[in-house]
Amino acid sequence: MIIRSASFIKSSTSIGQCNMPVKPEFGFIGRSNVGKSSLINFLTSYSHLAKISGSPGKTRTINHFLINDCWYIVDLPGYGYARVPAKMRESWVSAVQEYILKRENLICLFVLLDSRHRPQKSDMLFMEFLGRNQIPFVRVFTKTDKLKKDTLEGSVQDYNLEMLKIWESLPITFTTSIVSKAGRDEILQFIEETINNLSKTI
Ligand code: GDP
Repeated sequence: MIIRSASFIKSSTSIGQCNMPVKPEFGFIGRSNVGKSSLINFLTSYSHLAKISGSPGKTRTINHFLINDCWYIVDLPGYGYARVPAKMRESWVSAVQEYILKRENLICLFVLLDSRHRPQKSDMLFMEFLGRNQIPFVRVFTKTDKLKKDTLEGSVQDYNLEMLKIWESLPITFTTSIVSKAGRDEILQFIEETINNLSKTI
């Protein structure tokens, strides 16, 4: 898919504030600092679309970006904030959960996982939550430039083994790096095919 345009549309703190659910949405989510904003900028080739910052947990809103006037990237608040009061954390969690469970035009979630880390409890619990609620998702292992090829393969394999303890099959998986420019074409192709399949089923 060629990205012809990408623009920020709206930040919302709840599903009620989001625009009408008329175009397909692809959500991006992961622990804070996983590289979500960087990936969104990399995918769209707009270097300042999503804000990259050194302070984990800064994305507290549901951010909509319209791509090619046709579909949305939705930047969802990251989970696993260490430095945020529990009460605030809870309100974000419930806003995100509601968005994920009720947003009828949410087609698929991209769950971002830092390829350097071993399977993390918060990621596993989050994917279990998606599975229990039959929310379609894929995995994206980020920052792969930080690992050697066989270390990366071992890291993904560790994740697979951990997931296969409770999952019958594994989700579609991408590996990305904004440094070595890996994974962009594959993700955009997946999104394009998914949108094309949607129009066939409508
Ligand atoms: P977010 O909190 O998930 O949105 O994460 P950011 O996109 O702000 O990235 C967090 C940090 O990781 C920043 O310092 C980025 O430059 C860095 N980063 C993100 N993606 C990559 C990557 O693919 N490779 C490397 N080496 N660093 C990355």
